[in-house]
This record gives sequence, structure tokens and C-alpha cells, in this order.
Amino acid sequence: WSKETIAVVTGGNRGIGFEISRQLLDHGVTVVLTSRDVSVGIESMKVLQEGGLDHVDSHQLDVLDSSSINEFAEWLKEKYGGLDILVNNAGVNFNHGSDNSVENAKKVIDTNYYGTKSMIEAMIPLMKASSAGGRIVNVSSRLGRLNGKRNRIENEELREKLSNVETLNEELIHETLTTFLQQVEDGTWSTGGWPQTFTDYSVSKLAVNAYTRLMAHKLSERPDGEKIYINCYCPGWVKTALTGYAGSVTVEQGADTGVWLSLLPEIAITGKFFAERREINF
Ligand code: NDP
Repeated sequence: WSKETIAVVTGGNRGIGFEISRQLLDHGVTVVLTSRDVSVGIESMKVLQEGGLDHVDSHQLDVLDSSSINEFAEWLKEKYGGLDILVNNAGVNFNHGSDNSVENAKKVIDTNYYGTKSMIEAMIPLMKASSAGGRIVNVSSRLGRLNGKRNRIENEELREKLSNVETLNEELIHETLTTFLQQVEDGTWSTGGWPQTFTDYSVSKLAVNAYTRLMAHKLSERPDGEKIYINCYCPGWVKTALTGYAGSVTVEQGADTGVWLSLLPEIAITGKFFAERREINF
């Protein structure tokens, strides 16, 4: 890896995304730190530069705004010719006390799943060909585990379909999310067999995990030299704004596995779920 290696980090202005950016820079790659608010992104970039990390750039990016994604993609292509590493870190969670609402559930699903998916679709055509392969890392959560003992979808048939790459497809993920949001809207979700803890957030990350496996399967058909490896990981319960700074691990620890996956040597690991640098079950 060198400064010719271009890594894009979404939601890079704070929390885990900022720390992933910092650690990637420490490893000598060029980082494009993206943020919803352009001035906040510039400020974050300056903090890194003041720490002696020069190969950092910043650009506006709202993963919910298709024109923002398109504009970013054009800028990236023009300035850097594409990218080698994409870290889909941007995410939201509103499961703090009384903040639950239909609107927030939609925003969680939209940002965490559809935002991630939109970025993957926009960036794949810009991934540079290389022998090391392009890398996509999705920052997910153990809360989205399909087969965890607790906090899982109760419908075994649906779990089975979502588990199996032969039956898994975008429509199934979309239908699952649509059914969930419909039940949130009509107030029936609590008896719908959805995960009981951080429900909308868990469902959004379950979708991210399923999409990671689906895309790994699709991308594996790409020819040698144009391979793209995609994995997801859980950073643990991290002290950031998202947890009200109540987590049990630091941002440094939370970023570590994401950086490790981004920079893995030429080993074709794809479609897997990790935590603390170890593979875990979906
Ligand atoms: P923070 O709230 O500190 O950071 C979230 C980042 O996402 C911010 O940069 C935020 O931008 C950005 N973001 C939110 N919505 C959008 C959007 N529409 N477009 C672009 N960027 C957006 O949270 P964390 O650092 O904790 O979270 C980072 C990731 O880690 C998330 O995906 C989260 O789900 C995941 N995660 C976190 C855990 C934890 O314990 N903290 C546990 C498991 C997973 P802005 O500053 O503009 O709001």
C-alpha cells in the first residue's frame, strides 16, 4: 500500500469514520474523508494534517442524496481516477429513550442500508484494477446477526432464505425492509417477530450483512485483476455520539478491524463478517 492507494471513507468527519481515516493515513494510503457538511469535513481534514498526516483530502457526501453521490463520483474520477478502498461507515441510530418514531425508523433503514447500497453501486465502476483487488468494508453490527440466539428475526423460513446465497437477492432484502417499515407504520411491528433490541437499527444492519454476502457472491465473478473483496465487521460498543459516548471500547479499538480488513494482504477473503479481527457468524 502506498499514497497511490485511494481510500474513501463515508461519515469520516467524526467517531469511528474519523479514526478509520486516521489509521489508514498512518498506513500510508491516501484518504478521501467525506462528510455531509462540507466545512465540518474540511475541519476534520485539517486536524489530521496538523497531526502530520498529509495525504488526506475531503469532499462533501450525503449517502441519502443521489446528486451528492453522483457529484462526488465525478470529482473522485476526475481527481484520482477512481478508488481502491471504500469504507461504508456512515450510519445513524435513534434508539435513545423516547426518540423512536416512524420517521426515525425510515431514516435508519435508508441511511444504514440504502445509503450503503447506493455508495457500493456508485463506487464499483470506479474501483481501480489491481492485483491486490479492490476492497469494500461495511461497518455493521452484531445486532444485525441473522442467527444469533437473541435479537433475531423469528421467522425461520425468512432467516433461511436470507442466509443462503442461492435464495438471497436484492428484492428479498428490499421486501423484508418494506414489510418491516409497513409494520412500524401501522404499529404491528412488536408482534412481527423482528429483533427485540434496537429493532430498526438491528434490521438495517441485518440488511447490510445480507447485502455484503450477496455482493461478494456477485463480485466473485469478476476476472482476475479486477476482483473486489467485500466484507463487513462489528466495531464493538464504541464510545461515540451514536452510543451517547456510553460504549465499552475506544474509537481506536472500534476502527481497528475495519482498517485491518481494508488493508489485508493479497488473500481473497470476501463475504465474511468480522469482529476483533476474527471471523464471526452472520
Ligand atoms: P457517529 O454518530 O459518531 O458518526 C456517524 C457518522 O455518520 C457521522 O460522520 C455522520 O455525519 C455520518 N452520517 C450520518 N448520516 C449520514 C448521511 N446521510 N450521509 C453521510 N454521512 C452520514 O457514530 P459512530 O462513529 O459510532 O458510527 C459509525 C458507524 O459504526 C455506523 O455505521 C454505526 O452504525 C456503526 N456502529 C457503531 C457502533 C458503536 O458502538 N458506536 C456499534 C456498531 C456499529 P454527521 O456528522 O453529518 O452527522
